[in-house]
Amino acid sequence: MRKNGLVISIDGTAGTGKSSVGKAVAQKLGYGFLSTGELYRALAYKVFETHTEPEDGAAVLALSKRLRFTFERQPDAVLKMFVDGEYLGAKLHLEETGNVASKVSTHKEARAVLTEKMRQAGAEGGIIMEGRDIGTVVFPDADVKIYMTASAEERAKRRVKQLRENGENPDYEHILALIKERDYRDSHRAASPLKPAQGAIIIDTSTLNLEQVIALVLEKISHYGA
Ligand code: C5P
Repeated sequence: MRKNGLVISIDGTAGTGKSSVGKAVAQKLGYGFLSTGELYRALAYKVFETHTEPEDGAAVLALSKRLRFTFERQPDAVLKMFVDGEYLGAKLHLEETGNVASKVSTHKEARAVLTEKMRQAGAEGGIIMEGRDIGTVVFPDADVKIYMTASAEERAKRRVKQLRENGENPDYEHILALIKERDYRDSHRAASPLKPAQGAIIIDTSTLNLEQVIALVLEKISHYGA
């Protein structure tokens, strides 16, 4: 085991509840929690800010090399991310940033740069890392690997509910189309496509609520001496 405990990976499509589950489980274990999509979202944000074409691999790579990430663990387990010393916050969580993130994340070389930053953040263990390729590429030697899935329709419903709670007026069909588009791109790209890692525990959350998934994950992890 690493100095601070296990490395636990949670991979899966967007909107399956990976972040909520990972954060709650990390809190119970006294671990840190990192949502690695944040790094891709930060890169997407910089791409957008500098008017770079997301398809321009060389320019995206150059930008990725310039980013300096630092993390500060919060009382709720989350590793709060600063980019060049700045907390980018809500700007990273617009639907559009997620979509650009999924475009910039198709570039293999830029992925390698961000992957290295993720490895540094998790090197000492005691961490739950959530993303698309944590168990397959970032930490193929993770102690516990979890893969979460749910139907696109169920995830669109959850996202619409969440946006309504934030005072927005989302269109279900539009959200569903964005989710399907992102799933397709994430699982069909050549570089580190989304797929369950060998030996991953697969959890379908379509018919489970958050508490049920948290309990299930804690039960599975208890067999690994966390
Ligand atoms: O998880 P989140 O929605 O924040 O991720 C945004 C995008 O970043 C994903 O759609 C995916 O394309 C990319 N990503 C990735 N590998 C990760 C985490 C996120 O390719 N480990």
